[in-house]
Amino acid sequence: MTLPPLNPVYAGLGTTIFTTMSAMAAETGALNLGQGFPETDGFPEVREAAAKALIDRSNQYAPMKGQAALLEAVAEFYGRTQGLSLDPARNVLITSGATEALAAAVFSLISPGDEVIVFEPHYDAYAPLIERAGGVVVRVRLSPPDWRFTEAQLTEAFSRRTRMVMVTTPNNPTTRLIPTEDWALLARFCIEHQAYVVSDEVWEQVVFDGATHKGVLNVPGLETLGVKIGSAGKLFALTGWKVGFVCAHERLVSQMAKAHQFLTFSTPPMLQSAVAFGLGLPKSRFVEEVAALQRSRERWRAGLEAEGFRTLPSEGTYFLNIDLPGSGIALEGESFARRALKEAGVAVIPLDAFCAPGGDSLPVVRLCFAKSDATLDRGIERLTVARRLCGIV
Ligand code: GLN
Repeated sequence: MTLPPLNPVYAGLGTTIFTTMSAMAAETGALNLGQGFPETDGFPEVREAAAKALIDRSNQYAPMKGQAALLEAVAEFYGRTQGLSLDPARNVLITSGATEALAAAVFSLISPGDEVIVFEPHYDAYAPLIERAGGVVVRVRLSPPDWRFTEAQLTEAFSRRTRMVMVTTPNNPTTRLIPTEDWALLARFCIEHQAYVVSDEVWEQVVFDGATHKGVLNVPGLETLGVKIGSAGKLFALTGWKVGFVCAHERLVSQMAKAHQFLTFSTPPMLQSAVAFGLGLPKSRFVEEVAALQRSRERWRAGLEAEGFRTLPSEGTYFLNIDLPGSGIALEGESFARRALKEAGVAVIPLDAFCAPGGDSLPVVRLCFAKSDATLDRGIERLTVARRLCGIV
């Protein structure tokens, strides 16, 4: 008997690199420096607030657009930390994680045949969402160590059919922040082509060396085109929570809410209450967390460099990237990742997994350093073994 056809976008996909590497690490007992999550759970006071809300408050459907207290807390938080002026009732939407927010943006803002520009390497969820919505992915390839786009690249990528651009800042996997002048350049193209800018800013609080995050709603001219997406998972180091925030012009928030109401409808109420509480914590609490991560990054970088690895700059996120050729490893990222896992017991993510198949290879691997010192030290030992096994050139 022939079976009915499967949707080709999903039929053509594998399982995400994060799930694959985490499963293989668990199976083989390898150290998991692949998928980005902290080794220990984040903010205990926020977890306590969730536990209390679970018992003391309603566990029935939250309002579709989000609990009033959380909408207010999001508007207040971004007002205080990023100078944004948001009306909680009009400019904010709560989603079940940033990934749902991305889906709601793509599904509600583009139509079949529209072109969406992405910068490669890009987070793995973007292209399948665009394709499933009938959009056409237009890729702009960026290169290390700066990972910046140029005016010539934008001129080539934009067309009459461009309806959206997706950006990530701080970027996963490149870790770079979009500089002010690059935002201005992109804004010029987006305004001219009336293209929406969906800006994945989930790492906005994980920024190092005193740098300041600059998001899409801080860019002059993008007030009615920009969609800012944030995530409680990254703010409080609780990646399993899946509570996302959308901030945008009222017209876009109400359009995206129409997609959200039929994706997940609403987000667990006890988590919303706890996130509202967490967003009210003093700045010093967030500074403390970033300082600890920055210390881990320094230990990690110094340890790897001492063993002969060449690292790329890490401006934010939980990640540090290794340049394989610069580290004397003449292998593609995927081969190195496979061998590091099987022969040295350490899981890493090749950046090729963030690029379209069949393109030029990108010999860089991503490592998560949101781990204890002991884990990082073991990671350095195992990566050093992998480097030796893979033949230093
Ligand atoms: N954002 C996480 C990372 O980049 C992965 C999330 C997931 O596994 N889907 O590692």
